[in-house]
Amino acid sequence: MLSRRELLRSATAGAAALALPSFGRADGPKGFELPKLPYAFDALEPAIDAKTMEIHHGKHHQTYVTNLNTLLAKTPDLLGKPIAELVRDYKKLPMELQTPVRNNGGGHLNHTWFWQMMTKGGTPLKGDLLKAIDASFGTVDGFKKEFLTAAITQFGSGWAWLVKGKEKPLAIVKTANQDNPVMEGHTPLLGCDVWDHAYYLKYQNLRAKYVEAWFSVVNWDFVAALFAAK
Ligand code: MN
Repeated sequence: MLSRRELLRSATAGAAALALPSFGRADGPKGFELPKLPYAFDALEPAIDAKTMEIHHGKHHQTYVTNLNTLLAKTPDLLGKPIAELVRDYKKLPMELQTPVRNNGGGHLNHTWFWQMMTKGGTPLKGDLLKAIDASFGTVDGFKKEFLTAAITQFGSGWAWLVKGKEKPLAIVKTANQDNPVMEGHTPLLGCDVWDHAYYLKYQNLRAKYVEAWFSVVNWDFVAALFAAK
């Protein structure tokens, strides 16, 4: 079983041993890289349209990566750090780097995971993760209802997350902007991007419709692998 640290590392370094979708080349001393999408732009249709995916990945995510590399150009040791560690520990950075790394590093980490948390047609929720969902939320519908509430009540831009729980096996949290639950010591398992840029072309202001459709493309196999990691 992989340690949490190893999984965080592999989630951004594309370790084949994990049997998780790989991103090709790892981030390294030359800087962070936009990971390739593990599917075609139109793979998540009709839940998420191809144009949204193309802009979201190629423009929005790319901008976070470009900004991060520019910010850290003079600190090569930071450029070689696993993105999840850089984001988790952003408060240890020099003051002038904290907010821009929080925003752009968070953006790179969140999107790197987000692409993997979805797949064409979705995968079934089963096994220990299903049991944990039932134990924490009563039913799968109970989970969806609570997750949807978090997603639609996140005021402005942000994310809704399923994380490992402290009292129950699982919990739901939301974060503003590009913050990631690792910043608060949580272990994120599944995140839904509720920035307008994630859905506006197809759904306009109807965030709830987008999130309801998004459930159909969740890659529960990936979420289960994160849940199983110690
Ligand atoms: Mn986004």
